[in-house]
Amino acid sequence: MLSNIRVVLVGTSHPGNMGSTARAMKTMGLSTLYLAEPKVEPDGHSIALAAGASDILKHAKTVSSVEEAIADCSLVIATSARSRTLDWPMLEPREAGEKLVGSALNGPVAIVFGRENNGLTNEELQRCDYHVAIPANPEYTSLNLAQAVQIICYEARVAHLAQVESGVEPVPVDENDENLEAFPSSRERENFFEHLENTLLSTNFIVKNHPGQIMTKLRRLFSRTRIERQEMNILRGILTSIDKVVAKNETKDK
Ligand code: SAH
Repeated sequence: MLSNIRVVLVGTSHPGNMGSTARAMKTMGLSTLYLAEPKVEPDGHSIALAAGASDILKHAKTVSSVEEAIADCSLVIATSARSRTLDWPMLEPREAGEKLVGSALNGPVAIVFGRENNGLTNEELQRCDYHVAIPANPEYTSLNLAQAVQIICYEARVAHLAQVESGVEPVPVDENDENLEAFPSSRERENFFEHLENTLLSTNFIVKNHPGQIMTKLRRLFSRTRIERQEMNILRGILTSIDKVVAKNETKDK
């Protein structure tokens, strides 16, 4: 189950942090590492700091964007030292651990970490369902990257152990059973947002050169509600019905 929890490092510039991240993960039982647009390749320094966890580094998957790293994940949590810059749904580290472990039963989930110098961009943060800020000293909130990874992985481990100790067999959601809830993957959500934006452009609700904050606010709304796959499919059906009327009106006008 912990292997379904993917640690995504974005734009990492210090090879040592890659190694220390691998070690932080392995000590907590996690194993799946993605390097999204890394500034450097893992090197001898990474391997030295990974110590007995160099297998995680060896199997780390390098991808060109966060989008690619999280595409098939049904839950994505972003970490940020700067809490509330975006006013996104926030979790405490403990809640983040519980959510990751709970959702990992149904497939891959991700916890995303930012660049050493400037964290994650707003656009990257907005692709995630929740944000988690480690409640550090308010006068100095920025942890070393691998140490932040350690804390979140520890919380995932605590949640995992609690689940094992409870003795209750976790039941995964059957994706084929339409009566059960199943959350869309990140890619499905992105397709939905693209469809929504295109439809709103076609009705002129969004003005192309002055889009304002509408899409950001709508993304936040759907993050807050944690929209399920079936609900999203209904909304896509509604959008398609609007698209048809718009297309019909356009041909009439010609
Ligand atoms: N100056 C950057 C901090 C980058 S630290 C900024 O303002 O965002 C590198 C990464 O470590 C962050 O992107 C985040 O993933 C993680 N991190 C550091 N401190 C954190 C904290 N207090 N809470 C959550 N994540 C933190």
